[in-house]
Amino acid sequence: MKKFEDLGLDPKLMKAVSRLNYKNPTPVQEQAIPPILEGRHVVACAQTGTGKTAAFALPLIQRITRASRKKAVPHALIVTPTRELAAQVEKVVSIAAQPYEYKVRLVVGGIKYKPQLERLRRGVDILVATPGRLLDLIDDQHIDLSQVQVLVLDEADRMLDMGFWPPIKKILGTVSPGCQKLLFSATIGSEINKMVGVHMQNAVKIEIARKGETVRQIDQSCMPVEHSQKAELLLALLGSSPAGKTLIFTRTKRRADVLAKILGRNQIKCQAIHGDRNQSQRTRALKDFTTGRINILVTTDVMARGIHVDNIDSVINYDTPISPEDYIHRIGRTGRAGKRGDATTFVSPDEISAFRDIEFLMKSVIPVKDIEGFSYKESRIVPQKERAAVKQKPKPFQQGRPQRLRGRRR
Ligand code: AMP
Repeated sequence: MKKFEDLGLDPKLMKAVSRLNYKNPTPVQEQAIPPILEGRHVVACAQTGTGKTAAFALPLIQRITRASRKKAVPHALIVTPTRELAAQVEKVVSIAAQPYEYKVRLVVGGIKYKPQLERLRRGVDILVATPGRLLDLIDDQHIDLSQVQVLVLDEADRMLDMGFWPPIKKILGTVSPGCQKLLFSATIGSEINKMVGVHMQNAVKIEIARKGETVRQIDQSCMPVEHSQKAELLLALLGSSPAGKTLIFTRTKRRADVLAKILGRNQIKCQAIHGDRNQSQRTRALKDFTTGRINILVTTDVMARGIHVDNIDSVINYDTPISPEDYIHRIGRTGRAGKRGDATTFVSPDEISAFRDIEFLMKSVIPVKDIEGFSYKESRIVPQKERAAVKQKPKPFQQGRPQRLRGRRR
């Protein structure tokens, strides 16, 4: 294993490394930092939790020269899909850039446009932005990207999923052809590959933590349950053992709100964080979760991508994610930095097919977990038993627990 000293970083950045409290480089840092320092385009297939932020932030700082003062003409641009992720990236970049006295600016939607603009006009060396607000700035000609020396597209697959491809194409068309480009993405599909072929020729390609490896620290299980019994099961699950810091995923913003209310009514302290909450509500919820004021955060996929809270003990998929990739992202919030984590997925009959896709992608059968004494509705379908039933008899798919349904709070 290499050390940070072997990667070619300048002594000022080595100070940043110790301020960030990093001892040794992670694999993505080990592989990405040297080619970035050489000025190569880099395409890295790496998920959150691999140390990818520092993998681009550290060498980027060394690559650029200081931008002209008092102008909105950045020399480095980092584009991320969500405001939360942008804020976290900005934090790492600011710490690392301190010895260089670079001006690091954050431009995101959901907060007032004018103050952001005024800060930009006071000078910017490194800009961290979400695509929507950045596009507004470009369209209003408030920002000049012609001097960008390094462009980072962080979590490119998520930007694609969120419909940010048009602004990304515009940004790629606005920076100079000689601009060094770094792309980080959990998955690299055909659309991203096409873009890499056009804009990032001869890029160094790095692949970190194949899907199976990323989840080895995580104890996965599923809980088959009727859709209408999910809240009841969740309350029983949370009551059965101390779950620690828990992130709960729902399919929609509305379901996140409804669930947070149900938990609140049952004296479980929690908050919901999703795209319809304003920036200060989101920031507060995230802070309360990080500092341990609340132990449960209910969220949606879009929001989750940017949540970098260490020491998350459990992930509960209240709704089975529709895409298997989202499953990997969701459960990847736990089991980080050598610690074990738990990931439990509720699977209702209408979610079995999505759950199958997840098992297929994970190349494993996710075991069923039950709570002793919980009265499941008879109509619930247990995936593994269902499969066994398919083998033995061609027809009946339903497996239930012939127990009386006990009255439970909702
Ligand atoms: P990221 O993948 O950039 O979201 O990083 C995930 C977590 O790993 C963050 O909490 C970082 O502070 C931490 N981290 C990044 N690089 C290192 C390193 N070299 N040593 C220890 N922790 C690190």
